[in-house]
Amino acid sequence: MNTVSKVLVVGGGIGGLCAAIALRRKGIDVDLVELNSEWTVYGVGIIQQGNVVREMSKLGVLDGYLDAAFAFDDVTINTASGQQLARIPGQRLAGPQYPANVGISRLALHKVLSETAIELGTSVRLGLSVETLSEDAEGVDVVFTDGSQDSYSLVVGADGLFSKVRGLLFSDKYQPRFTGQSVWRYNFPRNAHIDHLATYQGPAGNAGLVPLADDLMYMFVTSHEPTNPRMNRTTLAAEMRQRLHGFDGLIGELREQINDSAKVVYKPLEVVFVDEPWYRGRVLLIGDAAHATTPHLGQGAGMAIEDAVVLSEELTAGGNIEHQLQRFMARRFERCKCIAQSSVMVGEKEIAKDRSFDSVALVKKILALTAEPI
Ligand SMILES: Cc1cc2nc3c(=O)[nH]c(=O)nc-3n(C[C@H](O)[C@H](O)[C@H](O)COP(=O)(O)OP(=O)(O)OC[C@H]3O[C@@H](n4cnc5c(N)ncnc54)[C@H](O)[C@@H]3O)c2cc1C
Repeated sequence: MNTVSKVLVVGGGIGGLCAAIALRRKGIDVDLVELNSEWTVYGVGIIQQGNVVREMSKLGVLDGYLDAAFAFDDVTINTASGQQLARIPGQRLAGPQYPANVGISRLALHKVLSETAIELGTSVRLGLSVETLSEDAEGVDVVFTDGSQDSYSLVVGADGLFSKVRGLLFSDKYQPRFTGQSVWRYNFPRNAHIDHLATYQGPAGNAGLVPLADDLMYMFVTSHEPTNPRMNRTTLAAEMRQRLHGFDGLIGELREQINDSAKVVYKPLEVVFVDEPWYRGRVLLIGDAAHATTPHLGQGAGMAIEDAVVLSEELTAGGNIEHQLQRFMARRFERCKCIAQSSVMVGEKEIAKDRSFDSVALVKKILALTAEPI
C-alpha cells in the first residue's frame, strides 16, 4: 500500500501538471492549485529533447504530445550568416520509432498536459494558492488563500521561479538571480528549411529557429542587458530587431518582419538553485522552484518533467516518506545541478564573448548525461 495517498501540487505549470499525471497513474489522489485564475501560458514554443520524449512515454501522453508537436532529430550550429558549423544528431531515447527532439508550442503542451491531468481525476482549483503549511507525523495541514483547509500526505511545490512554497520552506535563503542576459522570441510561419533546430552565432548574442508545427516556427535571440532595463512594451519589435543586427541570411530576412511589438515575448533570464535537499519533512520542491536555469541547453522543463516521473516512482517503491524523498534526491540532485550550472555557464561565455568556448562539446556532454537512465 502507498504510504502517500493524497498529494497537493502547488502550481499548474509543466512540472505540476506532469506530477499530477504521474501520481494519478500510480493511484495517488491529487489536488492541484494554480495561482492564475485564467489557466493559460504565453504563446511561443519550447524545445524538448530525447529525455523528455522518453518521460512523456512513461507519463502515457506520448501520442497526444507528438500529435501536437513538430518532431525532428538534428540540431545545427551556424554562423550569423547561416553557414553550417556543426550538425549534432539527437538521440531517439523513447525508441527508434520516436523522434530525438520536438518543438512544441507552450499552448499545445499545456492543453495536452492539463486535459490528461483532469481526465485522470486530478482535482484542479484555479486562482488559489497556499497560505500556511503545518506538519505533524501524519501529514501536512494546509490553509489555502481562500481560507479553505485540507490535509495531505505530501505537498509538492511546483510553483516556479518565484515559488511561494520555497519561501515557506527556506525563507529568503534562495532568491532568483538575474544572469545579465535576456531572451527575445517571435513566431513566424515555418520556413521549409527549418525542419530542425537551427542556431546561429551572432556578434553579441545567439539566435535560433525552432519548428513548432507544419506552419509555425519561432525565433529566439539572446542579448546582454547588464542593467536589466524595464522594456517599453510598445517598442519591443524595434528593440528585438536591434538585438538582431549583425545577422544575415534567413535570420536577417526574418528580422525585417518583426514589426508587431505585442507579439514579441521578452524575458530577462533569472536562475535559482536550492543547494541542499529540496524537501523538509513532507514538503518538496520540484521544477523551477528548486532549480530554475537558463534556456541555453533547452532542459529546464525537461528537468521538471523528469522530477515528476521520478517522484511518482519513488513514492510507490516502498519505505517511509523520508526514505522515498531521500531516494528521489539521490536520483535528481547531481543531474539537475550539472545541467543547471552548465546552462548558466553557456550564457556567461556568451556575455564574455569567449570564442574559445567549445559549445558543441558541452552540448554533446549534456546529451550524453540526459541519455543516461535516471
Ligand atoms: C526564455 C525561456 C525559454 C525556455 N525554453 C525552454 C526550452 O526550450 N526547453 C525547456 O525544457 N525549458 C525551457 N525553459 C525553461 C522552462 O520554461 C521551465 O523550466 C519550466 O517552465 C519549469 O516548469 P515549472 O512547472 O517548474 O514552472 P512554471 O512553468 O513556472 O510553472 C509554475 C506554475 O505555478 C504557478 N504558480 C506560481 N506561484 C504560485 C503560487 N504561489 N501558488 C500556486 N501556483 C503558483 C504559475 O502560475 C505556473 O502556472 C525556458 C525558460 C525561459 C525563461
